[in-house]
Amino acid sequence: MIATIFYRNNFDGGDGWSYYPKTIQIADNCPKCGDKRGVPYNYNFCEDGEWFSVDRWENPCGHLDTYRECWQESRQLAAPAAGEQIKCL
Ligand SMILES: [Zn+2]
Repeated sequence: MIATIFYRNNFDGGDGWSYYPKTIQIADNCPKCGDKRGVPYNYNFCEDGEWFSVDRWENPCGHLDTYRECWQESRQLAAPAAGEQIKCL
């Protein structure tokens, strides 16, 4: 599914001071049990005086997806599979 998460650069080992919404693709199913993930809904919140619009969802199975885990999952999905060629445009 496509979801907009709140990315922080400390997800990749940074200092955590850089953050912004990022739209990513992750699996439709919960990585912990394989059941369907919940449907994303828009969520607005304030961080340090600035408003951000991201997605949230509640998994019917009860497992919690963190943005950090979703980010890592999207990175794995985006990585080319072994033997697959990267297309140059
Ligand atoms: Zn689950």
